Amino acid sequence: MGTKLISYQLWIALRQPRTITIGRLGEFNFPAGVYVYTGSAKSNIEARIARHCRRDKTLRWHIDYLLAAEGVELFCVGRSARGECALNRAAGGEVLVPGFGASDCRKDCRSHLRYLGAKRTAD
Ligand SMILES: [Zn+2]
Repeated sequence: MGTKLISYQLWIALRQPRTITIGRLGEFNFPAGVYVYTGSAKSNIEARIARHCRRDKTLRWHIDYLLAAEGVELFCVGRSARGECALNRAAGGEVLVPGFGASDCRKDCRSHLRYLGAKRTAD
């Protein structure tokens, strides 16, 4: 038995700046670059990750709206035994959308989506 994986991170690239509506949070301007979203699943983390990778689904969470937008690419998935808030903070970056994925956050992260900047899209 390995350590139980409870958190995941989705690494997302946006090649062109875009205005995206994130459900009831509203409309936001997303600059081109790399974003990291940190979430958790208490059970069946692989099913959750598989859902994020699927484009055809009912939009439910904030992250669903981002991943469904044109030009958005999920290019890497990480898994961790650390709590999602600790992982989210360790990712650093900037908060562009306050409240994103943080409805259940009790650690005052402000957002579970962080913008890491444009540098890694220049492949
Ligand atoms: Zn948090």
